[in-house]
Amino acid sequence: MTPTRRDLFKSAAVAGAGIALAGTTPAAAQVKSPFEVKGTYIPIVGTSEQFQVRRIYCIGRNYAAHSREMGSDPNREPPFFFQKPTDAIQNVALNTVADHPYPSLTKNYHYEVELVAALKSGGTNIPAEKALDHVYGYAVGLDMTRRDLQRKLGDEKKPWEIGKSFDHSAPIGPIHRVEQVGHFEKGAISLAVNGTVKQNSNLSNMIWSVAEQIAQLSTAFELAAGDIIYSGTPENVGPVVKGDVILCKIERLPDMSVKIV
Ligand code: MN
Repeated sequence: MTPTRRDLFKSAAVAGAGIALAGTTPAAAQVKSPFEVKGTYIPIVGTSEQFQVRRIYCIGRNYAAHSREMGSDPNREPPFFFQKPTDAIQNVALNTVADHPYPSLTKNYHYEVELVAALKSGGTNIPAEKALDHVYGYAVGLDMTRRDLQRKLGDEKKPWEIGKSFDHSAPIGPIHRVEQVGHFEKGAISLAVNGTVKQNSNLSNMIWSVAEQIAQLSTAFELAAGDIIYSGTPENVGPVVKGDVILCKIERLPDMSVKIV
């Protein structure tokens, strides 16, 4: 078959691409997307490197008082988890108040302040006593929630995806490495709206510790470097409206703040 002009053009393009990619790894040379897909990264304090996010896991009802306010038995039931899409991350720089868009579809938009653990490695069936070895660092995060949709979908026994796992639903401060800040088994955690404290608890009130969360998660999923875990929120979650400023505090980490716009 006589090659068309288009075929000839394609061959030339492939040959050109091969030359352009000389020096890159064979794998990179073979894999080429027809369009750009952005990765998700979180800045790391004290280095120019950034933490590439693989998956976002979140634990539900991990503080007894919050469990009660959500209508659950706060006894030590097995933990449950959900995920947010990786690109739900909204990076919030230190010493700034980031604009956070009020999402569509909701009339009851809630804050949940949470400690976030970021993993440098993973595996399956990780014992709790080895789990913290996989933690690279920690950050302050918000698990923003369309509460009305979460409740409605839950009541209808439907996935609560659009209540929890929507665009921009995971604001997060920069990651602090374990070498810098250690691990977090206790410490004050609080959230204020327009200067009024709304959530105020201690990380020691978690039902399942970060280590136990990693152990439990790794029975269901193979964990890996780049996974981050939102470790649950204390009681007194509540709504915000446009114009509100949320200030999140976790002892030994810098504050994180967003304004609802
Ligand atoms: Mn949460």
